Amino acid sequence: MKIITLEESVLKLIESKLAKYPEHLNEFLTVPTGLVEVVNLGGMKLYSSESLKQDFLKAISTNPVTKSSMDVLNKLVSKDKIMPCWTGSNFLKNVLLKIFTQENILGLFIPSLNRILIIMNSSVNIFGFADETRLSAVTIHEAMHMSAANSRVNFLKIWKNELDLYYTSMFSLMFDIDKKDKQLQTQATAFYNDIYNTFEHLDPRKFKNSGKMLEAWELMLDKYIKPLMKISELSKQEFEDSLYNLKLFGKYFVKDFETLMANYMRFKSVFMPMFIAYRSIGAAKMPNTTVCQELFYPSEVICIGTLFPTFSKQKVKQALSIIKI
Ligand SMILES: [Zn+2]
Repeated sequence: MKIITLEESVLKLIESKLAKYPEHLNEFLTVPTGLVEVVNLGGMKLYSSESLKQDFLKAISTNPVTKSSMDVLNKLVSKDKIMPCWTGSNFLKNVLLKIFTQENILGLFIPSLNRILIIMNSSVNIFGFADETRLSAVTIHEAMHMSAANSRVNFLKIWKNELDLYYTSMFSLMFDIDKKDKQLQTQATAFYNDIYNTFEHLDPRKFKNSGKMLEAWELMLDKYIKPLMKISELSKQEFEDSLYNLKLFGKYFVKDFETLMANYMRFKSVFMPMFIAYRSIGAAKMPNTTVCQELFYPSEVICIGTLFPTFSKQKVKQALSIIKI
């Protein structure tokens, strides 16, 4: 199972691919009865219906990730905050999903609509085990992003412990610092609070274009992370190299995402600590995802964490409950 974790990039990509391949817009041939067009995503028509909503809820109702939150999820679906939708278009399958995953379910949180779209193509078997599992995972993943965007202060309160552990562990590994060091813990916490308050609620597409995002982020690294050089086991040169690589990774993420994906393996020193840090919040093995968003959007850490069996279902429910309806 592979989770789409690249919402903003996916949106950008949809826009750019649609512009390049207008013929995909005409692929929609048959619309089953009862389905009504609900969203037009950059030209791609998406359809939903009452029975699709009911089937969706039924399909995720027994999954361990979703079952204890079904009352809140029912409400979110009935208020159209979470919209399961269907596209008969091969566009999703042929162009979009090929880039990220072989799966055929795509979750998107669209901040400007304050709505989550769970997009399925016609080959999804909503009551098949694999698809049920994926539907649940994708739904909770996107819902955590929505929760963070809707009620930032509360989201941070609910997940403080997990985020403290993750970012301390990540920087400890990246810069070879004892993870019990108090200064590291303080600076790691200050860093994620700052990126959270600066980037989490903004429309990333707007911010990215301005290039100010990158500038702001680099300043944060200089402010919170650079001073840790004196408690690091790395030499001055090694520390500076690590910081440089981290900045370069961030630069690609913001400015040229497709190049970052193409050269991802070159950045082991950056992404391995981001992977391994998931152990600090309960990952038994490496998450099957592409880590990168964590450097700008702390909610991503929680989204990934919701799939770990030890992650608090109570807190997930709490976080779902703060979504504004
Ligand atoms: Zn995500």
